[in-house]
Amino acid sequence: MTLPDTPPAFHVMAKPTGSKCNLDCAYCFYLKKEQMYPESSFRMSDEVMERYIRQTIEAHRIREVTIAWQGGEPTLMGLDFFRRAVEVEKKYSKPGMQIENTFQTNGILLNEEWCKFFRENNFLIGLSIDGPRHLHDTYRYDKGGAGTFDKVIRAARLLQEHKVEFNVLCAVNSVNSRHPLEVYRFFRDELGARYLQFIPIVERDNDTGHQEGTRITDRSVHPARWGKFLIEIFDEWVRRDVGSTFVLFFDGVLASYVRGYSTLCILQPTCGQGVALEHTGDVYSCDHYVEPNYRLGNIKESAIGTLISSEKQGAFGEDKSRTLPKYCRQCEFLFTCHGECPKNRVLTTSDREPGLNWLCAGLKAFYAHTERPMRMMADLLKRGRYADEIMQIIVKEKPTAFARAGRNDPCPCGSGRKFKRCHGEARTEGRVTRVEGKRDEAGMNLRNSKHEI
Ligand code: SF4
Ligand code: SF4
Repeated sequence: MTLPDTPPAFHVMAKPTGSKCNLDCAYCFYLKKEQMYPESSFRMSDEVMERYIRQTIEAHRIREVTIAWQGGEPTLMGLDFFRRAVEVEKKYSKPGMQIENTFQTNGILLNEEWCKFFRENNFLIGLSIDGPRHLHDTYRYDKGGAGTFDKVIRAARLLQEHKVEFNVLCAVNSVNSRHPLEVYRFFRDELGARYLQFIPIVERDNDTGHQEGTRITDRSVHPARWGKFLIEIFDEWVRRDVGSTFVLFFDGVLASYVRGYSTLCILQPTCGQGVALEHTGDVYSCDHYVEPNYRLGNIKESAIGTLISSEKQGAFGEDKSRTLPKYCRQCEFLFTCHGECPKNRVLTTSDREPGLNWLCAGLKAFYAHTERPMRMMADLLKRGRYADEIMQIIVKEKPTAFARAGRNDPCPCGSGRKFKRCHGEARTEGRVTRVEGKRDEAGMNLRNSKHEI
């Protein structure tokens, strides 16, 4: 039964293997969660899986339902578990309902069989890659300490061969953040990926893995670097890739300019619509708050809809805006930033108020740098035009440079490519912004809002 206060839609990130993973990535915040379930087999039972799917479907009051699988590493459950899950989805699906499965993986165990299954059942995959080999292998290694680049690239190729849609999830850390264009161009040109999600690593330095203490590890991305990373990629993207390469964060910020809010939780004023489901059936306030104080209950005792609409979860959600320091409340970019994710708020403002985001300096630089082009794209969209028209506007702003450029000269847009392969070529892809992928109600491409590693 649906409670009146249950939101019409919500997001549950299920972890069928809990924190169990076949890799040992240095920055993974989730590996330490193993300590919370000392005697566990780290396998979700079919009973919990069925309750998860049934309760999620029953509580939704819109047609689109997302069933999300994450880890740890979900492929460790074996393919048959997900075959059964798809059958359960069919069993409980209501007429007219569209159920989409999202599946985040490190790619190591993917093979033909997995890819065929994903394709047949229309799974959307999140594949973790941190850039070209020398950047990916810095922190993403296996239990023996070996780099995983070759295996993840093999997985990406298999997905492409089988025409399985995937998002690249790139964890931006202290090392790869120094090479924004190398990372971006690698994904775009060498991997051929079109959907990119950059996730800043902000890791608290403690033994629990909980959001405690204010010390940040050296592996974390430096605030100014985060800003520079986003700005350099944005500058290339806005000159040549709008409508053909999709960067989730850029889409989210643009949505705030277009209609005043984004569907990305980090860009929303409150939290609370996305919970984490552990393999035991325990539900926590958010994937980043799987810790005893944020446990809402267990789906064997209370339905997910009830837990999401609980007072405790409501208070967790409201805390995001309630605890904002004055410095943020007076910020000109509050309308889109909202202080970003509370888990990253470890700084104290100059007037000694706690709760300022570690990334603030970089975020502010990014918002200031992109304000004009964001407003231009928003204006185009509001007038029923296409955001990709901005690329031609930018070309017209520098007409002489483009007119003078020879076919083999570097493109004046600064992309680093030859003119003939960049703005000098007849573009054929630039119209897809409004018709491809999973769109939100503004008609823009805002794909799934997974933003965890
Ligand atoms: S903003 Fe952060 S804490 Fe809030 S729901 Fe999103 S990930 Fe969780
Ligand atoms: S940019 Fe900085 S000051 Fe402004 S809302 Fe974001 S975190 Fe707060």
